[in-house]
Amino acid sequence: MFTLINLPYADNALEPVISARTISFHHGKHLQAYVDNLNKLLPGTPWEGLPLDEIVKQSDGAVFNNAGQILNHNMYFTQFAPSPASPDQAGKLVKQIVKQWGTLDAFKDDFIAKGVGLFGSGWVWLAAAPDGSLAITQEPGAGNPLTKGLRPILTFDVWEHAYYLDFQNRRAAQLQALWPLVDWAVLEERCVNR
Ligand code: MN
Repeated sequence: MFTLINLPYADNALEPVISARTISFHHGKHLQAYVDNLNKLLPGTPWEGLPLDEIVKQSDGAVFNNAGQILNHNMYFTQFAPSPASPDQAGKLVKQIVKQWGTLDAFKDDFIAKGVGLFGSGWVWLAAAPDGSLAITQEPGAGNPLTKGLRPILTFDVWEHAYYLDFQNRRAAQLQALWPLVDWAVLEERCVNR
């Protein structure tokens, strides 16, 4: 049985960028529904009993969609903090970003452009290849770069439910506003452990 993760902060801790109302629907209703759906779907499938990462890598159809949404949201919610670690505390990751994009700001611009450019619902990701090189990927629906053999590091949710109550149709503005909440120590840790 999978369970809903507890958030490592209060519902209103990320305001005004992410309101308590958005958190209550996004975590308490949307994510809870994916957890409930997966628990109903899994019994009797070949993926019953596997860890979430493995279900995402191996499954398809409704099981993949619900497992992917759980993994993606778990990573999304836990990468934010009201007083996050700065990029200075992600030395190796930021060094690689600067090597590939020139500056951290240039990387952020590219990441946001790819989030804005993803048609419909999905996720924009920073992911690492086995050789340590980084890539920004656009994943529609419940997609996760794990299925491409990449290690997921950072993600912004571009489903409208993630931002519509607070930003309505302004996806770019919401993505831009998220950066000050990103905990770079969490990202650095994801580069080595998952
Ligand atoms: Mn979402």
